[in-house]
Amino acid sequence: MSYVDDVIARVKEKNASEPEFLQAAEEVLESLRPVIEANEEKYKKEALLERITEPERQFKFRVPWVDDNGQVQVNTGYRVQFNSAIGPYKGGLRLHPSVNLGIIKFLGFEQIFKNSLTGLPIGGGKGGSDFDPKGKSDNEIMRFCQSFMTELCKYIGADTDVPAGDIGTGAREIGYMFGQYKRIRGVYEGVLTGKGLTYGGSLARTEATGYGLLYITEELFKDHNETLDGKTVVVSGAGNVAIYATQKAQQLGAKVVTCSDSTGWIYDPEGIDVELLKEVKEVKRERLTAYAEARPSAEYHEGRGVWSIPCDVALPCATQNELDIDDAKELVANGVTAVCEGANMPTTLEATEYFLENDVWFIGGKAANAGGVATSALEMSQNSERLSWTFEEVDEKLKDIMVNIYHNISDAAKKYGFEGNYVVGANIAGFEKVAEAMLSQGVV
Ligand code: NDP
Repeated sequence: MSYVDDVIARVKEKNASEPEFLQAAEEVLESLRPVIEANEEKYKKEALLERITEPERQFKFRVPWVDDNGQVQVNTGYRVQFNSAIGPYKGGLRLHPSVNLGIIKFLGFEQIFKNSLTGLPIGGGKGGSDFDPKGKSDNEIMRFCQSFMTELCKYIGADTDVPAGDIGTGAREIGYMFGQYKRIRGVYEGVLTGKGLTYGGSLARTEATGYGLLYITEELFKDHNETLDGKTVVVSGAGNVAIYATQKAQQLGAKVVTCSDSTGWIYDPEGIDVELLKEVKEVKRERLTAYAEARPSAEYHEGRGVWSIPCDVALPCATQNELDIDDAKELVANGVTAVCEGANMPTTLEATEYFLENDVWFIGGKAANAGGVATSALEMSQNSERLSWTFEEVDEKLKDIMVNIYHNISDAAKKYGFEGNYVVGANIAGFEKVAEAMLSQGVV
């Protein structure tokens, strides 16, 4: 049995109850085969793959809080510190009822390679809770965040582990968590990113993941002697990533015709009105029905369905496994040229393979959504030097980072004989740096 097969089998045996983590680990290990086979003896002796698939540390803790009726509620909190070979752990906090250890481990594992791809010194981690922010009052959100941070603050710090936002954790939640950290630890440091602009946040962080997604997509088109101008784009999600991906796509001349949330989706052939979408989702925190009510050109549909709309570019920006093989077949039949992932692992393995077999240009989330964490790292730099950069400075650095990522993953794919396979390219380019750092640091 080859070393890769041996490790995949062991990971499956050890983590049988964590399907999302297994999916992520298998996808990465499979695509690393050419690099591993070229160094098989050395990596095996060093148990490099066993180490890289085992988190350095993981915390699971009780989060008790009192709701507005005086009733005590209990949630579970998690922080997985996966790999610190190239820098302090960095990765978001997800607040969603579906959160469990397997999901946090899958996200933390992916984060190792994504962070490495940014070219910045950040390791991989992830955290969150099965708390559902939907329908909670501001005070309930604050009490939850304070309780969550009361425990989490023991394990994080500006030079050790710097969490950020993710699904369910936006500027409001980061603010409450930062306040509680400062109160308990008594230090004012850049321990969280995604902070408000008045207390150490970075300009352009809010826009970064969506904008970054479009910068890499633009570079992909440029490399194929094409532009995004006039292209039809289908976006899923209506959160942070989806909104700013839509905005940048429109600035680049494309027409975005869909968005979605967990209950339904919008088809707006005139092009999504971003300002209206922001008002509905960021300000009023309403369902998409409110968008359709305010916009005569928009159709609202219950359930899922954005991938049935013909397009040139598909940008999944909602959540994991939201684009399956049937969706992939429909997109290909409708002539899609490119799929770039704004969310983490939104495309199933089967659907990814189908895109690759059908010559769709496919950039996975690890590379395509790295703009968020890259700008978080820029926020850390600004906090360390106690300065803040202008929007344009940050945006320009973000663009450079995304363009570099595109060429790194494209070159890595070419180097190992997989030209045009950006999935393999991203995994290899992300892995090589972490592997070298781990080997240099000895058996730790
Ligand atoms: P938000 O919470 O702002 O938005 C998530 C969107 O996806 C909402 O429209 C939500 O709908 C929808 N959604 C969530 N879960 C489901 C589900 N199970 N089925 C259908 N729709 C769902 O999150 P973000 O935009 O920040 O994150 C989106 C994705 O991007 C995630 O995979 C995240 O990990 C990834 N990501 C985010 C980064 C960031 O900087 N924000 C950085 C890198 C990756 P509803 O409101 O109804 O729940």
